[in-house]
Order: sequence, then C-alpha cells, then structure tokens
Amino acid sequence: MKTLRLLLGDQLNPDHSWFKTVREDVVYIMAEMRQETDYAPHHIQKVVAFFAAMRNFAKERTAEGHQVRYFKLTDPKNPQNLPDLVKQSIDQEGCDRFEYLLPDEFRLDRQLKVICEDLPIASKVYDTEHFYTTRDALELHFEGKKQLVMESFYRMMRKKHSVLFKDGEPAGGTWNYDAQNRKKWKGTPAIPKLTPTHSEELSPILHEIQDSGIRTIGQIDLHNFHWTTTTEGARALLAEFCEKLLPHFGDYQDAMHTDEKTLFHSRLSFAMNCKLISPREVVETVEKYYYNHKDTIDISQAEGFIRQILGWREYMRGIYWKEMPAYARKNSLENKNPLPDFYWTGQTRMNCLKNAIDQSLESAYAHHIQRLMITGNFALLAQVHPDEIDQWYLGIYADAIEWVQLPNTRGMSQFADGGIVGTKPYVSSANYIRKMSNYCQGCAYNPDDKTGEGACPFNALYWNFLDAKKPLLQGNPRMGMMYRLLEKKDANEIRGLKERAAAIIADPDAF
Ligand code: FAD
Ligand code: SF4
Repeated sequence: MKTLRLLLGDQLNPDHSWFKTVREDVVYIMAEMRQETDYAPHHIQKVVAFFAAMRNFAKERTAEGHQVRYFKLTDPKNPQNLPDLVKQSIDQEGCDRFEYLLPDEFRLDRQLKVICEDLPIASKVYDTEHFYTTRDALELHFEGKKQLVMESFYRMMRKKHSVLFKDGEPAGGTWNYDAQNRKKWKGTPAIPKLTPTHSEELSPILHEIQDSGIRTIGQIDLHNFHWTTTTEGARALLAEFCEKLLPHFGDYQDAMHTDEKTLFHSRLSFAMNCKLISPREVVETVEKYYYNHKDTIDISQAEGFIRQILGWREYMRGIYWKEMPAYARKNSLENKNPLPDFYWTGQTRMNCLKNAIDQSLESAYAHHIQRLMITGNFALLAQVHPDEIDQWYLGIYADAIEWVQLPNTRGMSQFADGGIVGTKPYVSSANYIRKMSNYCQGCAYNPDDKTGEGACPFNALYWNFLDAKKPLLQGNPRMGMMYRLLEKKDANEIRGLKERAAAIIADPDAF
C-alpha cells in the first residue's frame, strides 16, 4: 500500500497533522506548474515568492524525513498541469491511494474532484487545518438571515474563540474600535521598518521564470524583496510587527502617505495565505502581546488588527464558499467600461492613483485603504467592468488568491455583488482622499474644484456615478444623504459635472 499526497502552492502548513509522523508508505508531490502561472498575469514578485516558499517547504519536510517529489518549473518531467501530474505520479510511484488537502479556490476544488472521479484508485480529501472556520461556517451562522453583516460574524468569532473576550464581555467593554482607527499620518516621525526576509533561492527562481517566457507584470529587485517565504521568517515578522508597529496599527489603519508606503501594516498576508503561519497563531500572538503591554498599547490597536483576521479574513472566505461560482459573474451595477491602461503602467497625473499603482508595480503590495479608496474607488466611479478589475487585483498583489481577492474586489470594493459584503458602494470624491492622505498636496489637480481643466477627476466622477446609478441605488437607505445632496444641485451644475465625467470616462489615460 502506498499513498500519494498532493500539496498545492498555498498549502504550506508545516503544523499539519500529515507531517506529525514520517511514513515510508507516503509520497508527497509538489509542482511549479504553468497551469498556475498562466491562468492570470501575475506580478513577478508573486510568482517568485510562491516558488521560493514552495521550495523552502519541500526542503524542510525532506530534512524531516518525508519523501517529497518536487517538480521545478523547468524540469522536463514536470507535466505543468494537475491532472497529468497526479496520474503520472500515481503510475511512477506505484500508489494505490490518492490524498489531497481542500483547495481554497473553487477552480482547483472542481478540478480535483474531476481528477478523483477518473482515478482507478481510492482518494480522500483532508482539511488544511489552517482557518478558524470550515467553508460553510458563515452560511450556518447566517442561516435564514437576509443580511450577512460582518460585525455579527466577528462577534460570534470573538466569543467562540474567546479572543479579547473576558467574563462574558468584550475586553475593554466595546466590541469594535473602528471609529478610533481613522487618524491622518502627518509624515513624522519616521515609522520603523520591518526587516525583509531574504532567501538564497531567489535568483535561480527568477531566471527560470524569465527563461520559461511566463508573462508577468511589475518589477523586481532581489536586494529589496520583502516577501517572507518561510514559517520561521513569518514568525519573526509577526514578532517584529508586535514590537514596532502594533502600538499604532489601529490609529493609522485608514491613513495613506507618499513617504510611508506600508505605514503600520504587518505585511503578513502572503505568508498567511500560503499557510506558512496560521491565523490562530497570529491572533493569539497579538492578543498575548497586547495583554503583556497593556500599559503602552491601547486595546483599539490590538482589536483593530485582530478584527482584520478573525473577522474580515474568515468572513471573506465564508462569503466566497457560500456564493461561488455565481459570485464571480456578478455585476449588479451593470458597469461596462474598460480598465484604464494606466493601471498597468502608473502613467497618470492623478497623484493618488500614481502613488498607489507605482507602489503596487514596484512591490506587489498596497495596503488595504490604497486598494479600497484609491484604485478600487476610481475603477468604480469610472464604471469599469468588474471582470477587468478582478484580473488586475488577482495579478498585481503577491497575496492575491481568488478566495480572498474576489469578495474584496467584487464585494467590498465594487459593490458588484449588490450588497452581500457591503451595505453601500464604497465611493468618495477628493474630500476623503485629502482627509486621509497627503496625495492631493503634490497633485496636478485641485481637490476643491469639480469642473474645469484642473479639477480633480474624482469629483465629477463621483456625482456622475450617483446620477448614473440612481435607478439602482436610490432605494438604498444608506445612500439617502448622498442622494439628497445630489438633488440640491441645479441642472446646470449637474450638466457640467456629467460633461467632465464623460470626458474622463472616454479617455481616462489622458488624465
Ligand atoms: P494588515 O493591514 O497588516 O492586516 C493584517 C491582516 O489582516 C492581513 O495580512 C490580512 O490577512 C487580513 N486582512 C485585512 N483586511 C482584510 C480583508 N479585507 N479581507 C481579508 N483579510 C484581510 N487580501 C488578501 O490577502 N489577498 C487579496 O487578494 C486581497 N485583495 C484585496 C482587494 C481589494 C480591492 C481590497 C480592498 C482588499 C483586498 N485584500 C486582500 C485585503 C487587504 O487589503 C490585504 O489583506 C492587506 O492589505 C494585506 O496587507 P497586510 O498583510 O500588511 O495587512
Ligand atoms: Fe487624487 Fe484628486 Fe487628490 Fe489628485 S486631487 S491626489 S486626483 S484625489
């Protein structure tokens, strides 16, 4: 009896029960496949980081005594797709049983089910032992309810897992300190930087990707590579985050600044999404650090961080599995426009977009509010088709895997799901961008002007969006104030705003 076990590139959980014992009768397979590099144009740093993490993981398990067959991208024996990899490995290893871990992507889940149906041998699927919740936990929590409000799910999670929860009460007496998480960063003092974790393996990986002709986007500088590709590195990053950045994480969660591209953010998403480190370990470490440093760290900082992981991350996963596959086609606002070319080049005079996009192309990273308030906001105001925006978000960020990217993009950012994730579209004019960043100071456009050559494009687009989507959004109670303000505008002003918006939408790359 011999068992073949498959490990996908985002299933690098070293604490999984599979690895508790070394078994002679088990062979693990891992492969860097064109099937995965080519289904969307990925950022070059994302591909390098995945392969580096996979190679490190294979080396570590091999050193522990596990039998790992690893197929590098350029290995002539690598079939480059999952069905052939599984069939070929079963034959070569003489296996009579196939096992795999639950994939997080619908695409791979479906593919593996089909593969197993065709196999002449028995197969079994195991949990990845990574998330707090099962795929259907959100659906069960909201059974019979119309609204899937994140806050309700988050409170259940806090209670159930006893996180920042003492004597039947939320620690500090309040569930959510979101209202305190909105300070603007003034530019000084300099924020401590997290230490990047390098891996010696990066250079050959990069050459193999380049030599294979894989189409990638963005830039890479191996001396300035910030993705953590080992569990040890992820734990070190988490410890450094707690010490240097947690004390102000919540305060500046929604801030943006040209000189501080990562502000107080942890950059843990890639390591967590590959499962190098578990959400439970991250949450428990942060909670413990907070309790040990209560005299210097306010609860709003720890709660703000924990909410992202125990709340948003698990919630988004639940939404994905509840709503797929229909979710990937939703376009409730009927948006049709193409994504401006400047999303791929950063060539625009709009300073906020230029900063957020340049940074994304340079580092495969943008923090949450840049993704939401700058690139997401503009795309929604310009009424871009959600398929085009999904492709961009799925490719450009190192942490982008469909189960988390899709509900964030189609749901939270684009309202294409008609209100499953958010209660209203996340749109803003220049005002809020100016309030939360220093972008407007260096911009070619004036955030105070709505029409005319030098007026900030976000302003005309904002009012035009409200007007254009009136039939779809007017009944939304959370949009009432916006529509009352729109109604106060006279016909001439509306005409001017709409003319300017039409010019921007017709040729956004000219702006
Ligand atoms: P921090 O600010 O330090 O937050 C800590 C952790 O909380 C993150 O590492 C992440 O695991 C989790 N988290 C925070 N916000 C969210 C959220 N909304 N949903 C799920 N988890 C969250 N996150 C991804 O991991 N992959 C994606 O592909 C992705 N696409 C996004 C697309 C859009 C349009 C938006 C608005 C957000 C997206 N996010 C995505 C969520 C969030 O922007 C990133 O998780 C975060 O910026 C990662 O940086 P960080 O590790 O420094 O996060
Ligand atoms: Fe962005 Fe408008 Fe501010 Fe320029 S003025 S940075 S385009 S919000």
